[in-house]
Amino acid sequence: MDASRLRAMEAVRGLAVQCLGMLQALFGGDTRMTKIQMTTPLVEMDGDEMTRIMWQMIKDELICPFVDLKTEYYDLGLAHRDETDDQVTVDSAEATKRLGVAVKCATITPNAARVEEYDLKRMWKSPNGTIRAMLDGTVFRAPIVVRGIDPCVKNWVRPITLARHAYGDVYRDAEMRIPGPGTVELVYTASDGTETRRLVHEFTEPGVVEGMHNLDASIESFARACFDFALATSQDVWFATKDTISKTYDHRFKDIFQEIFDADYAARFEAAGIEYFYTLIDDAVARVMKAEGGFIWACKNYDGDVMSDMVSSAFGSLAMMTSVLASPHGYWEYEAAHGTVQRHYYKHLAGEETSTNSVATIFAWTGALRKRAELDGLADLAAFADALEQATVATIESGKMTGDLARITSIEHPTKLSTGAFIKAVAEDLKGRL
Ligand code: NAP
Ligand code: MG
Repeated sequence: MDASRLRAMEAVRGLAVQCLGMLQALFGGDTRMTKIQMTTPLVEMDGDEMTRIMWQMIKDELICPFVDLKTEYYDLGLAHRDETDDQVTVDSAEATKRLGVAVKCATITPNAARVEEYDLKRMWKSPNGTIRAMLDGTVFRAPIVVRGIDPCVKNWVRPITLARHAYGDVYRDAEMRIPGPGTVELVYTASDGTETRRLVHEFTEPGVVEGMHNLDASIESFARACFDFALATSQDVWFATKDTISKTYDHRFKDIFQEIFDADYAARFEAAGIEYFYTLIDDAVARVMKAEGGFIWACKNYDGDVMSDMVSSAFGSLAMMTSVLASPHGYWEYEAAHGTVQRHYYKHLAGEETSTNSVATIFAWTGALRKRAELDGLADLAAFADALEQATVATIESGKMTGDLARITSIEHPTKLSTGAFIKAVAEDLKGRL
């Protein structure tokens, strides 16, 4: 059977499960307890493939039985993005601006193969890129630390949250090959026509040249996002550049961070008992390797690109990494750091049992629910988010886990569970906590 027929059957099955749930709720299947109430809805961004399957399981097994879940639902599944000419992605970001907190399932970023597979009208842009641009946010990635899944760096006992500046530098540069002798200059022509020049190099032989830029406003909003996130999570901020060598460019980053910190955050950091620490990037790398963790590492664009991969692989698994987009305007979007786990999805479609790790997606939900609870003053919703995280961690620490973790755990004789069985095991533990 082809993939689109299987997908259609999957959709029908999902609908049937939802209907059954509604009937049970209506006709008294659900008399056990009163559910935890919400006041403001979350923006729910559904997604693709295996993560879409887990999304529904998490809602059915871990959230809806306990919480009177209120969401504004946006289907960012690729078929629906194509149907709406990607308007649904824009609408979901607008909704996040209105409601403040979103939870997002992983989505396919189409390439040529996907255009063919889904018979797309166009190669739509990355939804994450669209949402990030609209919310003007910074992405913070943090590992979920569990006993038995040990980081390669043995002194990292607490998570290191990595914040990457996502604008400019080498990612928006202008580059040129220099074929032979000649002069390369930087020229700034002001709007009144006056020119300022700097010699880059007097070439006597072939070579290469690169021009980069950044914007004060972008650096400022990055700094604010980092300091706000530090206050929200009670963690120190580390920031580093190479200002001793790059005395104007990198120095501007250092100065902007310091000015904003002194003007708007120093007092609040002191009250919260946290610190802002600036050092050189090479010193920062050396210190991170010796540190215990438990801080936010703010990185320039390139440093963040490289270091986020190092930190996440050293912590064990991409499936144990959460990601939150925090905007300086107070919008929050929570998701897992991994993709749609395509290979597992095709096994699932073929009727084979999968063992896909839902932990990062569960933590996306708990992150969003906790933020909603904090904004709306709902103590029992916050307690539920804590309980669900504790249940997830405790399930793994008791030796029940999915295949990706069973392969790397230091726990002896772990039980490898299927995608669904793991979520059910977490639900069992959770019931005992509520
Ligand atoms: P991926 O979905 O992250 O998966 C890559 C591999 O990592 C998997 O094949 C699997 O390894 C392992 N893995 C990732 N998450 C896992 C989990 N939860 N449980 C167990 N194993 C897990 O990356 P991809 O295959 O490169 O991308 C697939 C699709 O996701 C693409 O269409 C891409 O556009 C999209 N994507 C979306 C986002 C997002 O929405 N934020 C981010 C990245 C990628 P094994 O196969 O060895 O088991
Ligand atoms: Mg990278």
